[in-house]
Amino acid sequence: MIPRLFIFLCCLLTSCLVFGLPENLPVPGGIAIVEIEDAGAKFISRNSRVMTLREQEQSFAIVGIPLSADPGTHKLKVGNRTREFVVQPKRYREQHLTIKNDRQVNPYQQDLERIANERAEMDEVFTSFDVNVATFTEFQLPVDGPISSPFGLKRFLNEQPRSPHSGLDIAVDEGVAIKATAPGIVAVTGNYFFNGNTVLVDHGQGLISMYCHMSRIDVALGNKVDSDDILGAVGQTGRVTGPHLHWSVSLNNVRVDPNLFLGSRDSD
Ligand code: ZN
Repeated sequence: MIPRLFIFLCCLLTSCLVFGLPENLPVPGGIAIVEIEDAGAKFISRNSRVMTLREQEQSFAIVGIPLSADPGTHKLKVGNRTREFVVQPKRYREQHLTIKNDRQVNPYQQDLERIANERAEMDEVFTSFDVNVATFTEFQLPVDGPISSPFGLKRFLNEQPRSPHSGLDIAVDEGVAIKATAPGIVAVTGNYFFNGNTVLVDHGQGLISMYCHMSRIDVALGNKVDSDDILGAVGQTGRVTGPHLHWSVSLNNVRVDPNLFLGSRDSD
């Protein structure tokens, strides 16, 4: 990780606002960091723009790889050229959970429209690519506590297969303050069927952090937040088995392992 003071000085000189790079882990649910010559890169199979950063005279594409990606060669379009990168295989463990409220596992017909609208609202943020928001990729944990459920687990709810775990769960008591993981702009606040009280923060170039199951929300749409600003408090709203923070990180509309943004400080 490059010292903040050095980067701050660089920023003064070049007006860049880039704080280091996340970890390179090219697996499903991970990140590929690919050296590129030009600014502007596209993930060809997903037709999505990807983040680009410049470090020490070199440009990099920072590519979020979906959990559903096949291992093997994938392609980026960089200017007029194609640049390949290789995704390595990774196996994630299974997790079997019992949800008492069966409606949260098998929603009623009347819930489906609400769920679809909420998904569209979140997808609009996940697919956004704002170059006017300064890019921050050096994150801190939003709360301190044990990880009760890691990223990527293959999930079975009441023994029915469901989508893999798209974030990590931090087990802390209801009411504990949740801090923004990095500076950004509040892009969504809402009360959602599965995620409960939820906040999404935009950190620039398609990098979004998401905080779910909150007991209360202390910020509003469009608020500018800094790393230590409080977004709200831990709760157990939505589909939960107890109070915890579900924290997700999305890059080019792909939920990736949040640990890759924590640097050497919190990655154990
Ligand atoms: Zn979770």
